[in-house]
Amino acid sequence: MSKGLLIVASGPSGVGKGTINRMMMERLSGIEYSISVTTRSPRGGEVNGKDYFFVNKSTFFNMMNEDKLLEYAEVFGNYYGTPREYVEGELAAGRDVLLEIDVQGALQIKEKIPEAVTVFFSPPNMDELEKRLRGRATEEDDVVIRRLMDAAWELSQQNKYDYVLINDELNRGVDKYIEIIKKEREKRK
Ligand code: 5GP
Repeated sequence: MSKGLLIVASGPSGVGKGTINRMMMERLSGIEYSISVTTRSPRGGEVNGKDYFFVNKSTFFNMMNEDKLLEYAEVFGNYYGTPREYVEGELAAGRDVLLEIDVQGALQIKEKIPEAVTVFFSPPNMDELEKRLRGRATEEDDVVIRRLMDAAWELSQQNKYDYVLINDELNRGVDKYIEIIKKEREKRK
């Protein structure tokens, strides 16, 4: 059986990558979303086993030591990782898998699995990103500043991705995103 396509999507907080991934998955069938493991606490409305697997640090470190994570990284003081068995199983069964992970994780994946397709979502400009981060009622001022600083670092790494897509407030990046995935699927036939 042909192996599935591994899609790795990153972009700074506030760029709308969650929304754009959801829109893409509504329009393209056959893509499985990999649920990450994290040590951060659930935000309001988040569901364990749907948004993330919420675990404590000792569980996370055990998974790391037992090589159960395909990649992992520390982001904003919390740990995040991709469960290996799920992703490898889906790919081996010929299904496509989407990872929505940070830059550090995406670069680890690209090194281990060069045939993975990496996509970076970039904001039209920093002012727009700041506006969107400030618009999120949940974020405190210092969190916004921290996230903007991290965004600047993430943006400096975007040339390491296979594709960079500019996403505006209307999520107009989604059409190009779908085109890319279709093209990459064709290549693998
Ligand atoms: P949030 O806490 O806002 O859900 O996510 C913070 C950052 O961690 C985002 O950039 C998100 O893409 C990233 N992230 C989520 N899951 C993973 C993962 O499994 N591995 C890595 N490296 N980053 C992740």
